[in-house]
Amino acid sequence: MSGGLVTAAYIVAAILFICSLAGLSKHETSKQGNIFGMSGMAIALLATIFGPNTGNVAWILLAMVIGGAIGLRLAKKVEMTEMPELVAILHSFVGLAAVLVGFNSYIDHAPGLAPVMENIHLTEVFLGIFIGAVTFTGSLVAFGKLRGKISSSALMLPHRHKMNLAALVVSFLLMLWFVQTDSTGAQVFALLLMTVIALVFGWHLVASIGGADMPVVVSMLNSYSGWAAAAAGFMLSNDLLIVTGALVGSSGAILSYIMCKAMNRSFISVIAGGFGTDVSVGGESDEVGEHREITAEETAEMLKASSSVVITPGYGMAVAQAQYPVAEITEKLRARGIKVRFGIHPVAGRLPGHMNVLLAEAKVPYDVVLEMDEINDDFSDTDTVLVIGANDTVNPAALEDPRSPIAGMPVLEVWKAQNVIVFKRSMSTGYAGVQNPLFFKDNTQMLFGDAKASVEGILRAL
Ligand code: NDP
Repeated sequence: MSGGLVTAAYIVAAILFICSLAGLSKHETSKQGNIFGMSGMAIALLATIFGPNTGNVAWILLAMVIGGAIGLRLAKKVEMTEMPELVAILHSFVGLAAVLVGFNSYIDHAPGLAPVMENIHLTEVFLGIFIGAVTFTGSLVAFGKLRGKISSSALMLPHRHKMNLAALVVSFLLMLWFVQTDSTGAQVFALLLMTVIALVFGWHLVASIGGADMPVVVSMLNSYSGWAAAAAGFMLSNDLLIVTGALVGSSGAILSYIMCKAMNRSFISVIAGGFGTDVSVGGESDEVGEHREITAEETAEMLKASSSVVITPGYGMAVAQAQYPVAEITEKLRARGIKVRFGIHPVAGRLPGHMNVLLAEAKVPYDVVLEMDEINDDFSDTDTVLVIGANDTVNPAALEDPRSPIAGMPVLEVWKAQNVIVFKRSMSTGYAGVQNPLFFKDNTQMLFGDAKASVEGILRAL
């Protein structure tokens, strides 16, 4: 394939990636968005593999077959609830790839560059490895936290902000040395030392962020992985990789900003490793009163007597895969003339848009699925709220307790409704690790058990 054809293919692929992002921004067009993205990637891969600058095609194809087979198997096996972990581990691969590309382009770069170009090349290598290493360990910690292998609460090391700042300053000084020195030994030493610092820095940055702020971290790491890919694009002189990396990097940063706004968090504080979040963490033992229980049959009676119902799903609905019976209940209640709507918190579940995906999967009509801001004023006029597997996102402590780790985060104000039924299996805490005073309010009753079994019980009784 000629160089001109490759450039044309890259332009088509870049346009398809932009169309893909546009498609993915709305439920109705998300399938189309995926198709655009896949087509763009197929064109990009073909143009790169068969382009004039690529050798060893057989090795590349072999690696693709092995990698593709592993990816296909993992994607088929992964549960919807495990998607955030999968995304986090995939980000770590992008980071690792940028580190390896960086070392490779340092070792293997073309000799005889003009001094200015040589300096630019060395800076690209240094920054690429730095961003890649931070993304690699940061994503591994995010994976561990999302999988429950690492505690979701924030690691509060003494002087942690000073340590972060020191890591940045030392890395910057190492970069100046790396670019200016003529000694290969000194360059290798600076590169290796920076890599170790960046690995520790990435690990510490994410470890010091608490559970409730993890959604921002996941989208932030998504953004970092984009910048790592863009850095790799500069090192490999691959325009499409630069464009694609910048698209991922900037869309991830915009998503993080939107999520920070939705959670009333400072963007800078979160990316600086939980800066300004020195708060106490309550435990599940901090119960704040007596709770009352209700059965599925009693809940069904309450629903029949209601004229307005709001369902607020959370991570537990995803775990229980309760979205299908929930959709059936919605249909049955609507057939009885009861107004049923859904209230979706922006960080419900473990992935941006997690609840919307599940409800769309179960064919709940889009027009009854409302965002938090659209539904919050209506709770006081609601007869019954069903909190299905949600916890942090309906926790009044966010508004009432300034020492809470989720303080300031807007929540679904379900307690303003006449009756609240909470579906969960025990009195244990949500992801942020704090007890929920909602469970002990006079108008709240707990329906214990697996959410799917409870919803099916209600369905039978309706
Ligand atoms: P939470 O994670 O706060 O709580 C989920 C609740 O579901 C738990 O209290 C659990 O209680 C219950 N549950 C679990 N399994 C079942 C089951 N099978 N049947 C019934 N109940 C079940 O959920 P929310 O959605 O309210 O909040 C999301 C949290 O995750 C927030 O803190 C958010 O910041 C964080 N997060 C969000 C991300 C995102 O992008 N959306 C990414 C990373 C983190 P029990 O064990 O007693 O059943």
